[in-house]
Amino acid sequence: MAPMTGEHGLPSSVDVLIVGGGATGAGLLRDLARRGLRCLLVEKGDLASGTSGRYHGLLHSGARYVARDPQAARECIVENGIVRRIAPACIEDTGGLFVATPDDPDDYVTAFPGRCAAVGIPCDDVPLGPVLRREPALNRGIRRAFRVPDAALEPWQLVEANLRDGADRGSETRPYRQVVGIERNGGFISAVSVADVRSGTVDRITPRIVVSAAGAWAGQVAALAGIELSMSPGKGTMLVFNQRMTDTVINRCKAPGDGDLMVPVHTVAILGTTDIPVDDPDDYQVTPAEIGILLDEGEKLFPDLRRMRILRVYAGVRPLYAAVEIAGHASGSIGAAAGRGLSRAHAVIDHEPRDGLANLVSVIGGKLTTYRLMAEQAADLVCAKLGVDRACTTADDVLPGQGEDRRYYWLGDRLAGQEASRGRDADLICECELVTRPMIEAVLAERQPCSLDDIRRSTRLGMGPCQGAFCTFRAAGVIAAQAGESADAGVEAADAALVAFLQERHKGTRPIAWGRQLQELLLATGIYWGVLGVDVLAAPPAPAGARARSLDAQVADGPG
Ligand SMILES: Cc1cc2nc3c(=O)[nH]c(=O)nc-3n(C[C@H](O)[C@H](O)[C@H](O)COP(=O)(O)OP(=O)(O)OC[C@H]3O[C@@H](n4cnc5c(N)ncnc54)[C@H](O)[C@@H]3O)c2cc1C
Repeated sequence: MAPMTGEHGLPSSVDVLIVGGGATGAGLLRDLARRGLRCLLVEKGDLASGTSGRYHGLLHSGARYVARDPQAARECIVENGIVRRIAPACIEDTGGLFVATPDDPDDYVTAFPGRCAAVGIPCDDVPLGPVLRREPALNRGIRRAFRVPDAALEPWQLVEANLRDGADRGSETRPYRQVVGIERNGGFISAVSVADVRSGTVDRITPRIVVSAAGAWAGQVAALAGIELSMSPGKGTMLVFNQRMTDTVINRCKAPGDGDLMVPVHTVAILGTTDIPVDDPDDYQVTPAEIGILLDEGEKLFPDLRRMRILRVYAGVRPLYAAVEIAGHASGSIGAAAGRGLSRAHAVIDHEPRDGLANLVSVIGGKLTTYRLMAEQAADLVCAKLGVDRACTTADDVLPGQGEDRRYYWLGDRLAGQEASRGRDADLICECELVTRPMIEAVLAERQPCSLDDIRRSTRLGMGPCQGAFCTFRAAGVIAAQAGESADAGVEAADAALVAFLQERHKGTRPIAWGRQLQELLLATGIYWGVLGVDVLAAPPAPAGARARSLDAQVADGPG
């Protein structure tokens, strides 16, 4: 029987309503759909535009947590193996090195391999000569280096693959739909109001069960049901450099702190992070002090760092759950007393015994690396509550879109693909990330309305060294060509997309506008303001319900 559809196109009843379209929500949709449940996932922004689209880009081996958080470390190494198997095309197998700089404590370095062994992380003590030959920009004063199975993981592709697997089994995903109200009938959720953030229309949905995978916003979603869930959002800021000064993920061999991790991601490298408690996951700024700390600490790994060009800065908010503290934690860096003292392990909360609400589950905390495990445990609980007896299959079956040969992604992948299929006539729109016109047209064909930022997340448009200076107007032209029946509609859509995209990029480049990056910024300004006159274009309207904030107070997303 066809599902009932409400007034604005959403199904009016489903088995499971999932709140949040980050990695956890997407993993959950996949898992539950495979167990035969019909799910609807709603996301208030674009897919993976929350923390999953603003993270550091690292598939953890777990080695970063061996000293302070062995439980999180153990989960990471197990899931690292699973994600490599089910999502190879989303991974660049860079490998990881933990290096002991002259500033890192001897006792930590000496204990490190034993701690890795204790939680099952392969860790080899590697000779320094070959390490420095492979990574010539590294500090020549490093004393020891250990190799671990860290890697780089692309979040948007991973989220899309999980959602596609769910869609293949009859479940649905709706971006730009926000849960704005939860109606209770005693100890039961009877209906949920979901607003279309673009049009302002509201649908009323009756799910059998609601799962909040709303990350740092989980406290806000619980509050809609009259429940208190105490989150401790921790802001992490990262710097994107215009070159890969390393082809390997590099960590300092010490307790995790600020600016001690560099991750090569596609054509760039990302230094991070800080960890600073914030009250509101939607309202935070990157401060000059943070950028200074990141550079000071980053120089201990790469002494020439200040001579390299910073492309942009971005930040994300960790969905840390205040109740999961690490016993005996001692603070070490800015914001450490709260942020780094909280476990990166996750929590699946059944609100029936805790709060007397039978059909609400929250799944929070953790790492992107452990998204599948979080989803599995939440799905187990949902199935137990709904009386469904079907086992999880997400660890065994490969995700869609991983290619026939199931290879890892590598830096030359897109170029090789273009050369194999098109030779020189690739119809490139973005030269840095090799994004072609057909790639953009494919996104537009699937998603309408679609902003340039949505296209960026799906294709990496504008994420390379020129940060969109030479491709944004071309991509806006593709939008114009596809937008509507009339030429006016096309121009309007392209203008709005262009302005929104430039605003988003501006947030990430303004805080680091000095030196050679300032020259780059002036060039982009000359193209868009001087030649194309974007200052006369109207800014796109804010989505219904969005809070007005100044451009400078907002922070762009990443990684890349
Ligand atoms: C700075 C930083 C660096 C990190 N680096 C790493 C790393 O290198 N490796 C790693 O494994 N992990 C890393 N993490 C952790 C990882 O990013 C997160 O644990 C993970 O992305 C959380 O995913 P999620 O799906 O639970 O949350 P999110 O991705 O935040 O998804 C929750 C979604 O819910 C949506 N939402 C909220 N309220 C509503 C509502 N009312 N209605 C509809 N939708 C709603 C939000 O818009 C959001 O998109 C990092 C985190 C930070 C902050």
